[in-house]
Amino acid sequence: MTPLRCLPLLLVSLTLGAQGSQKPAERLRSEAFRTHGAYTDLAWLCDRIGPRLSGSPQLDQAIAWAQARMKAAGFANVHLEPAMVPHWVRGRESAEMLLPTPHRLNILGLGGSVGTPEGGLTADVVVVGSFDELDKLGGAVKGKIVLFDVPFQGYGHTVVYRHDGAAKAAKYGAVAALVRSVGPVSLDTPHTGVMGYDPAYPKIPTASVTLEASTQMRRMQDRGEQVRVHLEMGAQTLPDVPSANVVGEIRGTEKPEEVVILSGHLDSWDVGQGAQDDGAGTVTVLEAARLIQALGLKPRRTLRVVLWTNEENGLRGGLAYRDAHRAELGNIVAAFESDSGSERIKSFGLDLRKATPEARTAALASLKGLASSLEPFGSIDVRLGGSGADVSPMVAEGVPGIGVGHAATHYFDIHHTQADTFDKVDKDDLAFNAAALASFAFALAQSDVKFQ
Ligand SMILES: [Zn+2]
Repeated sequence: MTPLRCLPLLLVSLTLGAQGSQKPAERLRSEAFRTHGAYTDLAWLCDRIGPRLSGSPQLDQAIAWAQARMKAAGFANVHLEPAMVPHWVRGRESAEMLLPTPHRLNILGLGGSVGTPEGGLTADVVVVGSFDELDKLGGAVKGKIVLFDVPFQGYGHTVVYRHDGAAKAAKYGAVAALVRSVGPVSLDTPHTGVMGYDPAYPKIPTASVTLEASTQMRRMQDRGEQVRVHLEMGAQTLPDVPSANVVGEIRGTEKPEEVVILSGHLDSWDVGQGAQDDGAGTVTVLEAARLIQALGLKPRRTLRVVLWTNEENGLRGGLAYRDAHRAELGNIVAAFESDSGSERIKSFGLDLRKATPEARTAALASLKGLASSLEPFGSIDVRLGGSGADVSPMVAEGVPGIGVGHAATHYFDIHHTQADTFDKVDKDDLAFNAAALASFAFALAQSDVKFQ
C-alpha cells in the first residue's frame, strides 16, 4: 500500500480511538444534541395525543405510545403494571359576573369538584384573603360564593387554598368556592389542579378564577360594591377505571437485581397539552435510557424507566407500584423523578426519609462522589432535597428518592393551564437534561454506592 492509500484507514482508526477515550458523559451529551429524540417525542405526545387526564382515551393512547417507544428503543422487559384510577370529567362550565359590571369570567373547575345544580347557581361573592379571615366571617358567608384571593407565595404555601378552600367554605354554609389561580403571573389563564372535600361538610362546586378577575372582585368588595356571580359547572366523578404504569429496563450486567429508577408521569390535566407537566419529564427519562442503550453502554446495575399514571389526581400509579414491589424495595438503589418542567437541570436532591442525620450526610457525600459524571453540564448541584410525588409512597418506606431540580423560572406561570403547550419548550434544554440525567444515573448504576 502506498502511504496515500493508508490515509483513510488511519483517519478511521484515529476517530474510533477518540470516541473510545471519550467519557460516557461526553458521548451522551453529543448523542443527545445530535439526535434530539426527547424533543421529537414530546412534539408527538403534545400534538397527536394531547392532554392526558386519568380516565381519558388520550391517557390510554399515551400509555400505548410509551410502551411502543420503549420497545422500539430495544429496552428489556417492557410491560404495563396495572392501577385503578379516578375518572373525573369537567363537563361544560362557565361563569359570569352579573354585578356590578357584567362580563364573562374565565374559570377552570378544580379536579374532583362536584358540578352545580342544573342551570347553575347565582350568589353574591365574599372575598377573603386567608382561612383566618373566613373563620372570622363564619356564618356570614352562608348562601354566598366564597372567593379565596390569596397571592402566590410559592406553590407549596398557596396550593392549600385550592385544595381545601371548598371544604372550609362549606363548613360555614357557602354554596360554592372560587380560588385565585395558584401561579405568580397571568394572561387571563386560570390554573386547574386537584382539590379535596372534608366528609364532615357538604360538597360544593369549586373553580379557579384568574388573577385578573380575583383582584378585580377584591377591589369591588373594598369599594363596598355588591359582587354577584352566576356559575355553571357540569363536573362529575365517574367510577374508577383501569390504567397502568409503563415500565422498561436496561438490565444490569453484574447486579441486575439492584435497580436505579428513572421516572416521570404520563398523565396530565385535561387542559393545554401537559407539555411541561409532565410531558417533559416523561420524554427526558425515556430519552436518557435510550441514549445509554443507543451508545451500547452497559450498566452494572439495572436501569428501569417507569412512566407513572395518575400523578395529578390520585397518585394511584405510585401507590400501586409501592404495593406491587414491596419485596424489592430494599434493592432499589434510588428512584429519580423529573416533574418540574423542561428548563435546565440545576440540581439533584437526595431524599432519605428513614435515615439519621449522620447517615444522610454520609449518603450525600457518596452521591457527590459521582459528580464528575456531570462535568460536561456546568454547575449542577448535588444536595439533600425533596423528590417527586409519584415516588413518594416508596420513598416513605425508605427507598432513596432523587428529585430532579429544574430551573423552573416560568414553570408555575403556565402549570395546569391551557398554555402548557409544546411551543414553550426549548429543544436544547431537553437534550441537555436527557444527557445530564443519563450520565448521572449511569454513573450510579456503574457504582457500588448505596444509600439505605
Ligand atoms: Zn407533574
